[in-house]
Amino acid sequence: MSGKSFFIDTTKCTACPGCQIACKQWNMNPGIKTTQRGTHQNPEDLSYVTYKLVRFSELEENGKPKWYFFADQCRHCITPPCKIMAESLNVKAITQDSSTGAVLYNPKVKVKEKEFKQIRESCPWDIPRWDGKTQGMAKCTMCIDRISEGLLPACVKTCPTGTMNFGDSDKMLEMAQKRLAEVKTAYPKAELTGVDFQRAIILFADDPKKYYKFAAAEPVGEITRSAAIKKVFQPIINLARAAG
Ligand code: SF4
Ligand code: SF4
Repeated sequence: MSGKSFFIDTTKCTACPGCQIACKQWNMNPGIKTTQRGTHQNPEDLSYVTYKLVRFSELEENGKPKWYFFADQCRHCITPPCKIMAESLNVKAITQDSSTGAVLYNPKVKVKEKEFKQIRESCPWDIPRWDGKTQGMAKCTMCIDRISEGLLPACVKTCPTGTMNFGDSDKMLEMAQKRLAEVKTAYPKAELTGVDFQRAIILFADDPKKYYKFAAAEPVGEITRSAAIKKVFQPIINLARAAG
């Protein structure tokens, strides 16, 4: 596959959360006032000014606390449902960079709240966010301004553990598959997601749902995300499988 991809190896993440802060800094996005909610995850969710969020899932397993960390962001889908939905609504806010494959939102394009809700609902990973004041949409840009100058995305450059990786898609897939084989002994349930249809390949050590409800795509809402996946991704996967 041509273009660029992330490889996110959650088995190495310490939830420091340097990637989240680097993303804020590079994009000059303001901080958000937070409150103590009984978790280290802050802010509570992605937003118009938070493109990257380190999610903390705090579970109890075998009577002991267990943490699952996941640096959440746009997956830069190869065939993006958000873009397809936007085009069906005649919203011209989403483009795809031909060289890297990055899915890019133009926050200056005004989008009505009703249309935004449909666009957000079409995303299997619940990524798009909207601002009521500007009426623009925003999310991770793949740091297109950095990578077009030969730099790494800010989150990847900052990550001290090797969790965040970025490069040519073929190389990222190779790296992900090699790492999966390495961790299978320690984590027998480990799996890669996004290999067939995302530019963010993610290695989870355990069931992705333990990390976050949208870590792996699930049906929710009126227009189900599973329907979006079946409609958009399944034909592509079928074609790829038929081609061997
Ligand atoms: S910078 Fe790396 S180790 Fe720290 S939270 Fe982000 S992905 Fe995890
Ligand atoms: S992850 Fe969601 S927001 Fe990102 S490209 Fe895919 S559908 Fe669009």
